[in-house]
Formats: sequence, structure tokens, C-alpha cells
Amino acid sequence: MSMLSAIVPCYNEEENVFPFFEEFIKNAAFFEKEGLEYELIFVDDGSKDATVQMVKKLQEQQKGVRLVSFSRNFGKEAAIYAGLQYSKGDLAAIMDADLQDPPSLLPEMYGYIREGYDMAATRRVTRKGEPPIRSFFARQFYKLMRRMSSADIVDGARDYRLMTRQVVEAILSIKEYNRFSKGIFGWVGFRTKWLEYENVERVHGETKWSFWKLFLYAIDGIVAFSTVPLTVVAILGVIFCVVALLLLLFFFFRALIFGDPTSGWPSLVCIILLVSGVQLMCLGVIGQYLSKAYLEVKQRPIYIVKEADE
Ligand code: UDP
Ligand code: MG
Repeated sequence: MSMLSAIVPCYNEEENVFPFFEEFIKNAAFFEKEGLEYELIFVDDGSKDATVQMVKKLQEQQKGVRLVSFSRNFGKEAAIYAGLQYSKGDLAAIMDADLQDPPSLLPEMYGYIREGYDMAATRRVTRKGEPPIRSFFARQFYKLMRRMSSADIVDGARDYRLMTRQVVEAILSIKEYNRFSKGIFGWVGFRTKWLEYENVERVHGETKWSFWKLFLYAIDGIVAFSTVPLTVVAILGVIFCVVALLLLLFFFFRALIFGDPTSGWPSLVCIILLVSGVQLMCLGVIGQYLSKAYLEVKQRPIYIVKEADE
């Protein structure tokens, strides 16, 4: 008999624990038919509401429900990592608590694994219910990312995936602190089957992602999976040098031929401002990489557990 571990990262999801379970358990008949045991791992990512109590209440009614609770909010990426570490199943699925990752897709995903795929992943083809400006920037981000990175990062890809133990081990072997899951999933490779579905809106509560948080997350992703910005910065420096050299020659010979009437002070100020601006920007880019490297070097744990069921 094989086992499926469903990993549910939860941050302030008290209203969603039970609705999620009810939706998930609709697959019970299917699991039984396939001879699949299941465990549900709720990873409480330092929730400030009653998420933990809700999970405990669910545990009283239902076996196979496990809780891992963090000492504070470490972010969804950390929760995914913890869930995968605690999972015992031959298969693992990562699912949001808010039912944006419909559990009803599980049988189909399982079918693909049986067919020989290593991972069944989902992507949403619409972004219905999302502010248009957010969708726009998200699209641009994915476009940019695909150009800059060798990891296969798919537009609209969700973290909702079903994977084999082999893939789980591969993901766990990546121990970096700055975890950009969408990149990591693509980076480990393996045969992936993509399922497409229409965006589903959250049932209860609200998204934890403000525009600013998403922006920072995008930068994390770029820094984690591409060094192209560093190359761009270097090339920019070369271009500036070449232009400066040409201008130097031009002004030198012009002064020789036509003499040197003192003028051009405003343009000089502009040029100084521009060049120092570009320099600061480039320093900033390098700083991003340096700060991420700094965090990696410290080798802090990815999460800290307050309580967990064995
Ligand atoms: N989540 C988490 N830690 C966080 C933020 C979110 O574990 O710091 C969980 C959250 O409870 C949910 C999932 O990650 O189950 C997706 O979060 P959300 O719905 O806010 O993101 P969105 O679906 O809007 O991308
Ligand atoms: Mg959501």
C-alpha cells in the first residue's frame, strides 16, 4: 500500500482548515479504490489566529492529520520545506489551505504519476479576480525570468504539485536559505506533466501578498536563479567607458582646433548626476547578491519548530 502526504502551509487560515478538509476528503473513495493511504500535514507558519486549535480539533475527529507548528512566521517557502521534510508518503502534494488549489484535481494528477511522470504540476491559465496591474507585472516578471534563468519557470505555475519521493528528496537536497520554490521545482528537473485550470478565488480570508511583498519576492527569485543582472551591470560599465573615451577624444581635438571657450557647465552637472546614479544602481545590484550570499553564509535554519506530531 502506498501513501500520499498532502502538505498544507497555513498562515492565519482558521476559517479554511475545515472547509479544506471537507473538500479534500471528497477524494476518499478514490484513495480507497487505488489503495492509497493518506496523511494531511498542516504546517502552521506562525499563525496569529486559531489555526493551530482548528487543526487540533480536526485531529480529534480524524486520524492521519498531523500538525507542524513554527515558532513564528517563516514564509510559505519554509513551510513547504518543513512539510516535505516531515512527510512520510511515497507521494507528496503541496496544497494551499484556501482551496485555490482544488483537491478535486488530485485523481487526475495521480493518474499521470501512474503513467510514469515524476511530477504533476498545475498552472492557472487565467488570473480572474486579481487586480489587472498585478497580473500585468506578474506576466512581465515571468517573461524576464525565462530569458534570464536556466531554471524552467512557468507563467501562472502554482505550488500545487503532486510528486514522487524521488522528487521530494531532490527538493530537500537543496538547502539554500533563500528559497524560491517556483525556481527550485523547475531546477530539479524530472518529467513534469502540466495541468491547466482556471483561477479559483480564495474562499475565506484574504491573500497575504501585498504588491510590495510580491515585488520583493520577484527580486528574490531573480537573485536566486539568475546572475544575468551582474553581467548587465558589467556591460553597462564598459559601454559608459567607451562613450566617455570617444567624447574625450572629440573634446580634445575640438579644443585643439577651435580653442576652448568655457561653457557647458549645465551639461557637465547632468553627466555627473547620470553617471553617479548609474554607479549607485550598479552597486545596488551587487549589494542584492551580496546580501543574499551573506544570509546563505550564516547558515541559519530555514524554520524553527515549536511543536510537531511525529
Ligand atoms: N502562507 C504561509 N505563510 C505565509 C504566507 C502564506 O504558509 O507567510 C500560506 C497560506 O496560508 C496559503 C498559501 O500559503 O495556504 C498561499 O497563500 P495566499 O493564499 O495568501 O497566496 P496567493 O494564493 O494569494 O498567492
Ligand atoms: Mg491563495
